Amino acid sequence: MKIIKDILEMQVMAEESRRSGKKIALVPTMGALHQGHLSLMDYGRTKADLLVVSIFVNPIQFGPKEDFGKYPRDLQGDSLLTAKRGVDIIFSPEAKDFYPDLFQTYVMVEQVTQPLCGAVRPGHFRGVTTVVCKLFHIVKPHLAIFGQKDFQQLIVIQQMAKDLNMDVEVIGRPTVREADGLAMSSRNRYLSPEERVSARSLSWALKEAQVLFRKGERKTEVLLDRVSGLIGREPATRIEYARICHPRTLEDLTVVKDQGVLALAVWVGSTRLIDNCLLEDNQE
Ligand code: AMP
Repeated sequence: MKIIKDILEMQVMAEESRRSGKKIALVPTMGALHQGHLSLMDYGRTKADLLVVSIFVNPIQFGPKEDFGKYPRDLQGDSLLTAKRGVDIIFSPEAKDFYPDLFQTYVMVEQVTQPLCGAVRPGHFRGVTTVVCKLFHIVKPHLAIFGQKDFQQLIVIQQMAKDLNMDVEVIGRPTVREADGLAMSSRNRYLSPEERVSARSLSWALKEAQVLFRKGERKTEVLLDRVSGLIGREPATRIEYARICHPRTLEDLTVVKDQGVLALAVWVGSTRLIDNCLLEDNQE
């Protein structure tokens, strides 16, 4: 496994791989890798000849009061994990090279970035689409693999790729969870032991909503009341949003006809967690 920091070197390597007929898969990450990230790599390994994982804590997707400074960074630990997963290249550029002085070009997706996280994290998705667009130009992947845990991010990137005719297949993969249901996240390590207990309520509430849905409840208000009740009774939780929306347009639904996505952002102490689940008739 090779670690590449130089952007031009990565581009040359990608170009040569493409020319020799190799299929390239990219898994973009911010590092501090866990099983969720590794599951994306395992999938990529089965689909591509050259598996590239980018590790880059992208400054422009963090707001001024967010956790950019304290976001966990562990390139050494990450490279041990990725080497075991058959990753060919870690691409880990320096921020000063990625966004040099006078950098001034951004990618913005208009509608699906507005609700949910977009409404509470201004500029976040502009940072995400810009970094992913640049990574696509540098790594030149045939397929790019993202987690459904960041559901809105996945939809936003699929929209960008479609709208800008990017020649890359954007694939979403299922959320990997801890044994008690908590969605794996690099931010889980911020939780105190008491907060970690409260954090279980997100996935439990999602499960409960799925049970209600399966029993025939279709009204968003009723489903969300139950979700808010379950999370709200746990110490140290504060719901930032809990919404049920259309899985493509991300518009709010008042009644779920065939399919909806229940999306949550919840503060547990000073840690912001997100999670979601699909509500559909033939769910497990
Ligand atoms: P991050 O490093 O948090 O930016 O995440 C990098 C990629 O891993 C994104 O596509 C995430 O959606 C995905 N990811 C993060 N957590 C999980 C998880 N628990 N299960 C599956 N994918 C995940």
